[in-house]
Amino acid sequence: FEPAGPKPIRKLTKDVINQIAAAEIIHRPANAIKELLENSLDAGSTSIKITVKDGGLKLLQITDNGHGINKADLPLLCERYATSKLHKFEDLQQLGTYGFRGEALASISYCSHVEVVTKTKNDGCGWKANYQDGVLIPAKPGAGPEPKPAAANDGTVITAEDLFYNMPLRKRAFKSPSDEYNRILDVVTKYAIHNPHAAWVCKKAGTALPDISTTVGSTAKANIASLYSPSLAAELLDVPLTTLQPENKLGAKCRGWVSNANSNWARKGGWLLFINNRLVESVKIKKAIEALYTAYLPKGASPWVYLSLEIDPAKIDVNVHPTKSEVHFLNEDEMIESLVDTVQTALAGANVSRSFTVQT
Ligand code: ADP
Ligand code: MG
Repeated sequence: FEPAGPKPIRKLTKDVINQIAAAEIIHRPANAIKELLENSLDAGSTSIKITVKDGGLKLLQITDNGHGINKADLPLLCERYATSKLHKFEDLQQLGTYGFRGEALASISYCSHVEVVTKTKNDGCGWKANYQDGVLIPAKPGAGPEPKPAAANDGTVITAEDLFYNMPLRKRAFKSPSDEYNRILDVVTKYAIHNPHAAWVCKKAGTALPDISTTVGSTAKANIASLYSPSLAAELLDVPLTTLQPENKLGAKCRGWVSNANSNWARKGGWLLFINNRLVESVKIKKAIEALYTAYLPKGASPWVYLSLEIDPAKIDVNVHPTKSEVHFLNEDEMIESLVDTVQTALAGANVSRSFTVQT
């Protein structure tokens, strides 16, 4: 047996590279929604409406009232690594936006049919543009690829149809549209709680009654009551804005709401962790907080936890993964320790006041 000789090395084409990247960034409809709603928030929107068909696999549409997109920028909109949010690498140290990689719309255009209708305050009318694989395409065969005038309100409507139409393997992996829809609801719920200043709507196409509906200028707690349950909201303990210690080293604050020692949210699953306003996963933080609750809750029970951490941007690296669902920060162990202390104080305070009430 003679091993075969080496094959020639060749560069992948741009389209193959972008398709691979798209598959990495957009795992499922809920990832696309997260990217799209972050763009709407970045655009300063106070109203964000999401419509979904077949769990997002047939249609995802998001309508916002943000600052819109200049017509002149539409040709670049879905090009990979094209962004209005970052210019220099150092800008990452004081990033004020969710986006910065310029990859989301490109990725979505590489795995679905994208249509954008947008209008800025200064536009006399809106502009409509269609995209495929990163580039502007004609809306109909024979037409030119340039944006067309369209009736529109100020803001942006982005529609993505037939997600994964060109990735049959991935498409087949989705067994249940209602599962995918629930994941979308989960993401929108969490962002609505963390961004209560905006009005949020999420519904299935063709239904009158939205599954998520919040009002503009609401509060986190009011949105928890309407999106999880009033009884949960009523019993939540306030974790007031706390500077994590040691202050100079950590450069971080935390704020949140957590369930008390009596309630069990194991089945409703409540875990909302935002770091610098990004919804992130942190197995370490989750484990540490859950460990704290084991002292209070019966075996198998879980707390409901919403924590928002603000870390000095110089101490945190958000550029870990294209989906940004993971961030790295300095002094992780001490940060977690101080965070656990803070939640413990909220829990202990509640226990003291309860035993006091019982005694009187
Ligand atoms: P990023 O958010 O990382 O910049 P995206 O691919 O998500 O990359 O978006 C590309 C650009 O399109 C953004 O930088 C922004 O200028 C513009 N954009 C996308 N969505 C919206 C929106 N809803 N409203 C206004 N501008 C938007
Ligand atoms: Mg973005």
